[in-house]
Amino acid sequence: MFEIKYKDGAGRAGVFEVHGKKLEMPYLFPVINPKRQVLDVKEIEELGFNGIITNSYIIYRDPALRQSALEGGIHALLGFNGVVMTDSGSFQLYQYGSVEVSSREIVRFQDEIGVDIGVILDIPTPPDVGYERAERDLEETLTRAKEAARLSRKMLLAGTVQGSTYAGLRERAASGIAALGFDVHAIGGVVPLMEEYRFADLARVILHAKLKLGHAKPVHLFGAGHPVIFAFASLLGCDLFDSAAYALYARDGRYITARGTYKLEELHELPCSCEVCAEHSARELKGLEAEEREHLLAKHNLISCLEEIKRVRQAIYEGSLWELVEQRARAHPALLEALRVLKGYSAQLERLEPVTKRSAFFYSGMESLSRPAVARHIERLSWIERRGAELVLLPDCEKPYSRTYRLTSSERYHVCIASPVFGIIPLEIEETYPLTQHEGVATLDREQIAFMRRVIAEYAQRFTKVHYHTSLGFLGIEGEAFDEVSQFRFEGGEELKLRALADYQLGRGAGEVLFAGAKAEYSRRTGRIRRAFVDGELVATLRASDGIVVPTIAGAERLLRLRYPRCRVVVAEEARQFAKEGKSVFAKFVVDCDPEIRAMQEVVVVDESDELLATGTALLSAGEMLEFERGVAVKPRHRRR
Ligand SMILES: [Zn+2]
Repeated sequence: MFEIKYKDGAGRAGVFEVHGKKLEMPYLFPVINPKRQVLDVKEIEELGFNGIITNSYIIYRDPALRQSALEGGIHALLGFNGVVMTDSGSFQLYQYGSVEVSSREIVRFQDEIGVDIGVILDIPTPPDVGYERAERDLEETLTRAKEAARLSRKMLLAGTVQGSTYAGLRERAASGIAALGFDVHAIGGVVPLMEEYRFADLARVILHAKLKLGHAKPVHLFGAGHPVIFAFASLLGCDLFDSAAYALYARDGRYITARGTYKLEELHELPCSCEVCAEHSARELKGLEAEEREHLLAKHNLISCLEEIKRVRQAIYEGSLWELVEQRARAHPALLEALRVLKGYSAQLERLEPVTKRSAFFYSGMESLSRPAVARHIERLSWIERRGAELVLLPDCEKPYSRTYRLTSSERYHVCIASPVFGIIPLEIEETYPLTQHEGVATLDREQIAFMRRVIAEYAQRFTKVHYHTSLGFLGIEGEAFDEVSQFRFEGGEELKLRALADYQLGRGAGEVLFAGAKAEYSRRTGRIRRAFVDGELVATLRASDGIVVPTIAGAERLLRLRYPRCRVVVAEEARQFAKEGKSVFAKFVVDCDPEIRAMQEVVVVDESDELLATGTALLSAGEMLEFERGVAVKPRHRRR
């Protein structure tokens, strides 16, 4: 049972409940070797892990272990009561070319020994093999998946997506696996990509699998056990990881950090303050007996992995996962390459990107310009009803811009900031996320200048005349330069502003139905619009923190004049009464919704005959709320009296 609590990018933080035991996601399973374990399971548990993964094939092949597992169960064998996941021998299949067990037999065995999450015996196809082989392997994996999915069992089962480095095969595999009702979706065959630092290919493999896997099941990225990749893979929607690296690296004297790996012998300092590194100097660690050194290194390595997973969860919670990924991308050019790959998948990623976050948008270099939030902003500029015949462009400055410039747009002038981060920011919408909450640099990158030119040139086509402040001469804008801002001074564009905000946040035409003839009430403290009235009736409030338009019930009634299913979340008859009483709308009762709904957007809740029940905040995107069987889709705000 899988429930999302917070989202950022395509990343999800939430809870995966397995047989009454809860894993916080994203979650990392430490790999336990049933024969030779460098870190005691108890030690692993004490670090805070409540789920581990081990290899059922090794147990199956060893008569003593097998006997013991069959008699007492896997939990007793490992001395661990948390979630036990097992691999099926696919790794051995990859390493040695064959295994001495059938898929059916090893799935049965995993279930018999009481595993919590088992895995099918898929065929791991290496990268770059011929297409025919990749396709043949994939067909075999899908045949096995179908067979395994039919077996009756107590354990949860993971189905694995293969397909080598072929995008089309990965998509086919994902469609096939998604149709079989597995509890966990795994992405396999990526270890060689990890080992060869082919993170760009890894990104493509994940993105193509995710495209067809749907949203409702946790996704396990098999064999991606190094912290350099956790933030990245989480951003793309991977929820579960396993790490054998912590132990394998320790054996080789390698020291793992979230920025990369060091050889212990080359370390002058231990750049970490975990219990191992706090109690030992680099020199002491080097001088230890091999076995003790391996043990301590493994412990440090695993703590390093855990820390990064926690950092990722925190980043998802606060909405700074893109920033974390961009930081991590600076650790190795291969990661930077992977980040640049994402640019080509902007539309796919935008659908899952929340519309507002707890933390600000931090520009960290030219790659930030390719984030979905920027592409969305530019797309949504075209949603705003066109007003003003002449475009006035002002340079970026301290926010809020209107306080510096003392200007608003008018019927004649459309006033915008030439923004080095978002290209162009109409003053009317400056107070909404992510426009107010963004931080950039004063000295511009060449790419930023090219980006501004492109966005402004495209935008300027909508206007008969362009006025630009002389300081923007470097942009080579066609138009008339000016020095004196006050000539454009105009008071009272509040209806215009409200309408632009609604269009930008809720889609074309929302401003007109919600705010035609609106009057604003301003906050005495901030001077910003706080509430909006039409004919004396309160239709919406504006959230101070992020400028989000929150419609009242009267406002929601107006929004329903937009064509079905715009702005709507439709609940099933059985949940109608709950929604009407102002209770949360659970995803399993959502029967339809506006496909443009994004997480954290304000929505109107209606029943199947399009009757207004309530308003609320979507916690999931449209695609997610239609697919999920668990968790809250809409957090209630106002209910119809
Ligand atoms: Zn350490």
